[in-house]
Amino acid sequence: MPAQNPDMEPLLEIEEVCKYFPVKKGFLQRHVGDVKALDGVSFTVNRGETVGLVGESGCGKTTLGRVVAGAHKATSGGVRFNNPDGDPVDVGTLRGDQLNNYLTHVQMVFQDPYSSLNPRRTVMQIIEEPLICLTEFSPKKRRARVFELLEVVGLNRRHAERYPHAFSGGQRQRIGIARALAVDPSLLVCDESVSALDVSVQGQIINLLMKLRAERGLSYLFISHDLAVVRHISDRIAVMYVGKLVEWAPAKEIFTSPRHPYTEALLSAVLRPDPGHPLDAMVLEGDVADPANRPSGCSFHPRCRYAQDICRTDEPPMAAMNNDGQERLAACHFAKELKLSGIDDDPAKQPEKMLRSEPQ
Ligand code: SF4
Repeated sequence: MPAQNPDMEPLLEIEEVCKYFPVKKGFLQRHVGDVKALDGVSFTVNRGETVGLVGESGCGKTTLGRVVAGAHKATSGGVRFNNPDGDPVDVGTLRGDQLNNYLTHVQMVFQDPYSSLNPRRTVMQIIEEPLICLTEFSPKKRRARVFELLEVVGLNRRHAERYPHAFSGGQRQRIGIARALAVDPSLLVCDESVSALDVSVQGQIINLLMKLRAERGLSYLFISHDLAVVRHISDRIAVMYVGKLVEWAPAKEIFTSPRHPYTEALLSAVLRPDPGHPLDAMVLEGDVADPANRPSGCSFHPRCRYAQDICRTDEPPMAAMNNDGQERLAACHFAKELKLSGIDDDPAKQPEKMLRSEPQ
């Protein structure tokens, strides 16, 4: 597990989390294997910190978000939440009232602002729902709280009696954020929360999330495949490949000097803001590994341009890259020798320039 920064208090500690989904076949539904969606994932999210979680579709990012939010039980390993108002809790053991209490601290913002809001309910009913389920607020107090939250996310009380179809995608995502903030959580799991929005609207929502973090001391687990967005908001970044963490580092270091070939390939695919500039993305050869039947050794070896014999037989552990602590980790046999390309050394490729941050 990555070592803690001694200056920061860990809010969420994810330790060796595995989540396997059984594969069953035949009339008798015999158990013939497992899809290993998560396989020994460990990292921490500190108070007031944003951790970006990146990787291709199917790498296990959303499964991890759901395990953290209590929607999936881990097959093994643990998620420990250091409750700011009480004792630490082991998320996997929570049931009933304990789980409800946990959900007042950890909420999710979903990807699709169109399908994540019930079209038959008004904005008031949508934002009020977690208050009804998880608190004992009176109806009057709930209404006041909804009005307050609408102001917080840049809407107003006139919107409360409208239905979701009356709003744009960005406004709907603001409603989703207001719903997540209703119970005053300390951690938000944002699962591809801006991916379905236009770029200019993405900038507005990211700005809103950053403002809320500054005002409320929120922590985020920010799941995205979009490195430009992740760079803009994250303090540290975890890179996942087929259910495993392959790199963990402060955001700036990931972008300037990646230590894992998979991270380098992801960075090479970040679009440049110059429309005349050719895209020089590295084309990863071979198929994405099957989480039910991973390749031997390093799971990335069939697609890795630097693979050697050892990569086909020995699985590389997550190893510290710095001598001054363990805040930088990578799972590659040659992480210290390879000279991989980042993108911040080329100003034309700096992703924050692509993210139009428009005033709210
Ligand atoms: Fe590539 Fe080998 Fe490193 Fe895996 S261990 S990322 S195959 S160089």
